[in-house]
Amino acid sequence: MPDTDAPKLLDFIVDRTHAGIFVVNRDMEIVLWNQFMEVHSGRKAQQLLGKNLFDEFPELPRKWLARKVENVFILKNFSFTSWEQRPYLFKFPHNRPVTGGVDCMRQDCTLMPVKNAAGEVEYVCFTLFDVTDTSIYQQKLKALTQELREVGNRDGLTQLFNRRYIEESLGKEFNRARRYGQPLTVILTDIDHFKQVNDTHGHLAGDEVLRIIARRLQDSLRDTDILGRYGGEEFLIVLPNTGTSGGKVLAERLRHAIESEPVSFGDTSLSVTISLGITELRKDSHDYEQLIGEADQALYQAKEGGRNRAIVFRPDDPAS
Ligand code: GH3
Ligand code: MG
Ligand code: MG
Repeated sequence: MPDTDAPKLLDFIVDRTHAGIFVVNRDMEIVLWNQFMEVHSGRKAQQLLGKNLFDEFPELPRKWLARKVENVFILKNFSFTSWEQRPYLFKFPHNRPVTGGVDCMRQDCTLMPVKNAAGEVEYVCFTLFDVTDTSIYQQKLKALTQELREVGNRDGLTQLFNRRYIEESLGKEFNRARRYGQPLTVILTDIDHFKQVNDTHGHLAGDEVLRIIARRLQDSLRDTDILGRYGGEEFLIVLPNTGTSGGKVLAERLRHAIESEPVSFGDTSLSVTISLGITELRKDSHDYEQLIGEADQALYQAKEGGRNRAIVFRPDDPAS
């Protein structure tokens, strides 16, 4: 290849490469504007050469960009901005489907010092890469990760929080309530004679009853209350900022919500009841496991006392 073709080739490549390339001098006058920039800005090089970049594109983040360019002139170093810090320099449209959730082209930019023979920076050359696809994939990945985390916290049958999550939440609420001296109540509830449901109607019907009860419990709670499936047909409810008097009221509401309306599936309609054990955080509570143990003892008393009832744990009760 003859030497003389090289500059022409370079011009061609700079113009046609699939990245934005433009150059400004110290007065921010545009001295080069390649085809990518023409296509995406809708502005021809002819109209822009010799013009001030900020006059022509008033929407640019002027203060920030002027300082960045000035630094390249002074420090004679490359400078970079990634789409994660600043999503875009120019608000260019992109041709991806709108479902990607990204409104305009995401850009990674490089500012390169162009020096003269004396070693002074005479120009700053910008390269601008379209990283819209990367940002769309990253957004999708984030959403998916979030979804996976959600699924990992849920019980497959009832869609309530699973045991691991509800225990973890109780642990956090326990620490928080203790630190700030706030009340905290725990309710453990268990469906009465559930084995009979399975024995009489089959395991699948039992599953359906579990789903219906779970939904009914959830619908009877406030947003701040945390409900999880603790075991087979046991549910744990954590009530932040609530003492046992409020806990007892809520427990009665839950008990009534289950008792008052038969559970229907297929052609069958069943009367179902639940028993509940309630306890609250006290000064001498060691850990959250102790609260579960106390709620379990109160639940046992509710079962012994005839089921379909809510009992509050009494620490000084000789039966406890
Ligand atoms: P109690 O009033 O004393 O609680 O009596 P119970 O029959 O409910 O108690 P028990 O612990 O004897 O039985 C619980 C039953 O719950 C036994 C088990 O087969 C059933 N069970 C646990 N998990 C599931 C489940 O996911 N699906 C179904 N269908 N049944 C379940
Ligand atoms: Mg039971
Ligand atoms: Mg049980």
